[in-house]
Amino acid sequence: MLNGFKDFILRGNVVSMAIGLAVGSAFTAVVTGFSKAFITPLIGLATGSVGDFSEARFSVGKTVFPYGLAIAATIAFAITALVLYFLFVVPMAKVQERFAKEEALDPKSEKRDCPRCYAEIPAIASRCAHCTSEVEPVSDALLKAGLAPGADKVPAAR
Ligand SMILES: [Zn+2]
Repeated sequence: MLNGFKDFILRGNVVSMAIGLAVGSAFTAVVTGFSKAFITPLIGLATGSVGDFSEARFSVGKTVFPYGLAIAATIAFAITALVLYFLFVVPMAKVQERFAKEEALDPKSEKRDCPRCYAEIPAIASRCAHCTSEVEPVSDALLKAGLAPGADKVPAAR
């Protein structure tokens, strides 16, 4: 029974998921702090000249409808979403895009099957890592990796 529990805890990515949640909640604190420190005062400045929306209300008989609260909350939401999008989402997407490009430049990322043992080897390899047969490197992959095609010298290890 204890073994089953251990398997359950260790299976999948429970640990990395927990770390992701912890990092996520810490990042939420960063976003919340930033928004409280800069965006909320800016909204105050912007609406200060117009008058505080949250005070606006109308009444039917004795019932009061403070519709200004809804307007103020909507404006705060729109501005916060806009600022966070341009300050966090767009730069993060750019950083991730750059990392993805660097990964694609790995010369060993392109694979092919060894013609002798059919194990998967890098397309630029001139010798199979599994059966040690000499194999002809894929010339397209050599060109992409910036290694001279046709040369029988072993490409420098990366
Ligand atoms: Zn092989």
